[in-house]
Amino acid sequence: MKKQKLTELSELGEFKVIENLTKGFSTVNKSTIKGVGDDAAVIDSADKQTVITTDLLVEGIHFDLTYSSLKYIGYKSVVVNISDVYAMNAIPKQITVSIAVSNRFSFEALNEIYAGINQACKAYGVDLVGGDTSSSKIGFFISVTAIGEVDKGKAVYRNTAQTNDLICVSGDLGAAYMGLQLLEREKLVFESVPGVQPDFSNYKYILQRQMRPDARKDVIELLAEKNLMPTSMIDISDGLSSEILHVCNSSQKGCEIHENKLPIHEQTKQMSDELGIEPTIAAMNGGEDYELLFTIPLSDYEKIKEFKQISIIGNITDKKGKMDLITENGVRVPITAQGWNTLENKK
Ligand SMILES: [Mg+2]
Repeated sequence: MKKQKLTELSELGEFKVIENLTKGFSTVNKSTIKGVGDDAAVIDSADKQTVITTDLLVEGIHFDLTYSSLKYIGYKSVVVNISDVYAMNAIPKQITVSIAVSNRFSFEALNEIYAGINQACKAYGVDLVGGDTSSSKIGFFISVTAIGEVDKGKAVYRNTAQTNDLICVSGDLGAAYMGLQLLEREKLVFESVPGVQPDFSNYKYILQRQMRPDARKDVIELLAEKNLMPTSMIDISDGLSSEILHVCNSSQKGCEIHENKLPIHEQTKQMSDELGIEPTIAAMNGGEDYELLFTIPLSDYEKIKEFKQISIIGNITDKKGKMDLITENGVRVPITAQGWNTLENKK
């Protein structure tokens, strides 16, 4: 391999680093009045309501540099925030990005992260309008804030699910979790037998779901186009179990979820099989799916049932605090936030 000379961050200094990192970015939104390059950004929300969300990602906790590329980390850190904006039924418009890195990071490494950030900005039509870089004594931190807009009265909350509503979920569940399990396994192999190149060819989908997830812009656009207004909505970052508990508890309702309705990708099932993990556990508790979980009135059933990318997985009940999974054998299992030991013990 040809050795490329890397630029130490201290050679450039903070202002030059930021100037160089942000020069490939352009702004596309009318509401961005002033982006990067002043003390603060200026955003014109006109008659819309503004939605703001932020996330902090920490090396070793949220990502592992041994198997994730810097570009993917940049991309994913934007996507996880944008997913939260969509979960409010809002459209993301701007982001700010703050990064802290230790001196083992070169300018070129930071540039890779920003290339991923830029890809996400382009994919979702958002403008980078500010942020900060700092040195850190140990590890790598990235914090993204996303700003979105929504018409007055159109924001959708998690505490407004109604009795008899249908529970819907976009895409499929558990793939990102199984992708992570695969990466962890291969990391162990690599550490014990250096030089062995893992073969990932059969598992591209689950790896992509873990390393470079996407947010459901298409679902929010589809719902708007079809005039479907969810009664409640949340995005799935911590696993379906945890998110449905949030919806039910904050709405003071209960629910029934049907195991045989859970959307699970073929590769997720294959990997589950290989590793001896129940696919239902991956789907319920895996997390990092960045799919949308929402409820709609029963009267919208005819409209929603035709969409391939949306599955109806259950219904909201008036039994406050009673959240159940109905298994394929018809057994009722209470949904808990962590650990599907109950199900595993039944095997
Ligand atoms: Mg969320």
